[in-house]
Amino acid sequence: MIKGKLLSDYVSIRKLLLPLLIILVVYSPASSFALIAKHTVGKVWYSNDKVYIYINPAYPGGSPKFKYNSTTGNRFYVDILNSKISTNLNAVINLDDVKNLRRAQNNPSTSRVVVQFNKSGIKPKVRFVNGSNPYILVSWNGTSRSSTGKTNNRFKILIDPGHGGVHPGSVGPIKKLIEKDVTLDIAKMLEQLFADNPDVEVRMTRTTDRHLNANLNLDLAQRKNIAREWKPDIFISIHVNGNRDKNLNQTEVYYYDRKSIALARIVRDNLIASLNRNDGEVRRKPFKVIQNNPATYGSVLVESCYISSVRGEKLLSQKNYRRAIAKGLRNSIDAFMSSAAVANN
Ligand SMILES: [Zn+2]
Repeated sequence: MIKGKLLSDYVSIRKLLLPLLIILVVYSPASSFALIAKHTVGKVWYSNDKVYIYINPAYPGGSPKFKYNSTTGNRFYVDILNSKISTNLNAVINLDDVKNLRRAQNNPSTSRVVVQFNKSGIKPKVRFVNGSNPYILVSWNGTSRSSTGKTNNRFKILIDPGHGGVHPGSVGPIKKLIEKDVTLDIAKMLEQLFADNPDVEVRMTRTTDRHLNANLNLDLAQRKNIAREWKPDIFISIHVNGNRDKNLNQTEVYYYDRKSIALARIVRDNLIASLNRNDGEVRRKPFKVIQNNPATYGSVLVESCYISSVRGEKLLSQKNYRRAIAKGLRNSIDAFMSSAAVANN
């Protein structure tokens, strides 16, 4: 009996000591492993089929050593040796292929970035890209359509269905129609309208009801980041407007960079023609997704009408009206592709 009690005391002390030891190791002062850490792992960026792990080398030109592996069918990790993580923030994302992205100090001298995929069988390639902002690139053939067809000389259109996930956008006054659902439906119709056109390649910033980041600013930055990565010829952000003035219901097309004026005008003209309206406006405003957007020929943000007006909500709840918006946008892009703005470049 006594022996048994002693043993259990011993076990409980061990049970206490082990977590203590772990706590001591994990939470040892940063300065102690700053001596070991040669690199700092900074922010982690991502696009449809790539993850960028930014590295700040302690010594100019120093390349980090890293190891990577799949642990289960869906989980992939990269260990960056001799490094510390700048923050321990988890990035909660849901891209088409990526369910989650985490980074953490795996042990005092190793940072770990874990990519959790939505499906198994993805075998990423990992390489270090040196330069003024060095990064470790994790890439795979995912949603990218470039792997299935020729991309040369095809006109690249990036469609951005506004809002999504935790960002609903504006809401209608009677039926409580939600902007994020309307924009996605129009975007999908527009994508479909280009399905038979071999000269055009279409991508979407989202294809389901999801946000790109729960933080609105980061969400908008991420949409532009997809453009930066893919370099589309044009970028079209689809929205419907909201205002406390329930009588407002005009069509508004926004641009910011000067090069986008021609595109904005063509979109306005074709959209109101398709919708049989005469109240379209082109305006300049620094909306985040179109400001400094890298699309070659321009980027616009389209507010087809006001979901906050009773009439606007009624129209937007009709499939035919949403289809007319998509057709107006398709006509706009067709007109723009054959316009001088593109031909002269
Ligand atoms: Zn909106």
